[in-house]
Amino acid sequence: MGAKILIVDDTRFNIRLLTDILEAHDYTVYSVSKGILVQDTAMKVKPDIILLDIMMPGIDGFEVCRRLKDDTELSDIPIIMVTSKTKGSDIKKALELGAFDYIKKPIDEWEVIARVQSALKLKHYQDTLKEMAIKDRLTGLYNHGLLIDLLIKELAKQQRKGYSMCFAMIDIDFFKNVNDTFGHMAGDDVLIEFSNILSSSIRKGDIVGRYGGEEFGVIMPEVDCTDGLRLFERIRKNVETHRFRVEEKTVNITISIGLCFKNSTDKITSSEVIKKADEALYAAKRNGRNCIEFCSAV
Ligand code: GH3
Ligand code: MG
Ligand code: MG
Repeated sequence: MGAKILIVDDTRFNIRLLTDILEAHDYTVYSVSKGILVQDTAMKVKPDIILLDIMMPGIDGFEVCRRLKDDTELSDIPIIMVTSKTKGSDIKKALELGAFDYIKKPIDEWEVIARVQSALKLKHYQDTLKEMAIKDRLTGLYNHGLLIDLLIKELAKQQRKGYSMCFAMIDIDFFKNVNDTFGHMAGDDVLIEFSNILSSSIRKGDIVGRYGGEEFGVIMPEVDCTDGLRLFERIRKNVETHRFRVEEKTVNITISIGLCFKNSTDKITSSEVIKKADEALYAAKRNGRNCIEFCSAV
């Protein structure tokens, strides 16, 4: 299936014309005829590009562009203005508002396709860069920086909404032995397989990231102490019983977990949460590994 393109134009004829051109080039086309409908439709469809008419009754293309660029979830979608307004000042205004490009009416099939292709190329580079900035390359989990950012956001949300949460630091036990016995590359494979187990063991809405090396962080919103302990005990057991494939052999690993529980009323920063979880993790290591230790935020 081709890239998804959302056409916004108040004239049915224009929508038909653009749709025919784009569908003939295998793009998947959606359309709306009112500026007011663009944000809701874009949220549902998640288009790769938006083709936006400027002159529309009600909310015009300039205003739609402004609203899309102010919307954090939609601001990355490249917008191509399609306009019969040929004054330089209008084009300048559209580009200053964040439009990526423009096409003048009457439209030409090959110009439309060329400009759409160039906007898609930009979107691809942009998505790749964004992915690289937030994901850990080896495991595909969130990286250290994003994990901390998400913890800060979760703490703020949790205080506003008034629910408890927990943060866990997880460290693989004696991981150096895996590397020493099977080699660093086999160690990498174990880290990938472990990350998959971790991702599939958490609930929807929980966040998992690679804190660094063989240490991982998990943010569990809306969880109390009893449920949190139960959920992490399940993760610990899943890992303990899993047989990791290393070359032709299998290997077992265990993990130690340090938990920091926080009630909505506790006043504590993200660094303090991490420090408490880290202290609990080291207590788990001292207590013989393959176990969970926890502490309260205050
Ligand atoms: P402990 O139970 O005390 O945590 O023992 P450990 O051996 O797991 O801890 P230590 O901190 O001594 O060693 C961590 C090892 O993890 C050493 C390091 O080479 C390995 N490691 C860290 N990152 C990676 C990685 O990306 N790939 C591989 N293969 N190994 C890694
Ligand atoms: Mg370790
Ligand atoms: Mg470690």
